[in-house]
Amino acid sequence: MNLEYSIVYSARKTLQISVERDRSVIVRAPEGTPHNKIEDAVESKKLWLYEKLKNPQKYKETSHSTELVSGTSLLYLGKEYRLDFVGDIFDGVVFESKFLISRRARMMAAELLKGWYIESARCIIRPKVKLHARHLGVEYNQVLISDLKYRWGSCTPKNNLNFNWRLVKAPMSVIEYVIIHELTHLLEPNHTPRFWSIVKTQLPNYARSKEWLKNYGDLLESRI
Ligand SMILES: [Zn+2]
Repeated sequence: MNLEYSIVYSARKTLQISVERDRSVIVRAPEGTPHNKIEDAVESKKLWLYEKLKNPQKYKETSHSTELVSGTSLLYLGKEYRLDFVGDIFDGVVFESKFLISRRARMMAAELLKGWYIESARCIIRPKVKLHARHLGVEYNQVLISDLKYRWGSCTPKNNLNFNWRLVKAPMSVIEYVIIHELTHLLEPNHTPRFWSIVKTQLPNYARSKEWLKNYGDLLESRI
């Protein structure tokens, strides 16, 4: 059996072989690694790779994930932007009225985009939480940007606030609604009339944002 794999060269220092969730094998190698060195490395891990590829349950689940190609549109702050794979060589994601990723990093596009979204969620959400906490007169402990399952935001008994990084796909007004919603829970744990009246003082139009989340809730489960 011949083992097929793709090679992604980058500025990294070590060679890494992995089986992606779609069962493709990727070798991440330092720039300029000779081909026979990569072949040897794959050869030496062959048994491990076959073992992983044989395991259907674990790697089947995301086979429905959308393939990322040039022209795919991606949401950011409520607007759709085009994704393009370009010939230039650079690291990560460049966002200039569209998302640009080097063609060389194509196999890693999903993880690069996720990283980009998480970083930008951090930059957008943290200062907004600070601002709205001041308006509401509440104190919180930490703001965490995470991969929440089926939720946009949550708050913990220790007053830590969690936000789903996918929230940055939503319009700003929706992001603010989720932030205010979670901060309001620090004053009122349940969705009582008092809870909603506090939310309303901060965001008179909150119903519209709530509606948006209802309509686009499935974004929570999309891979990117
Ligand atoms: Zn709630």
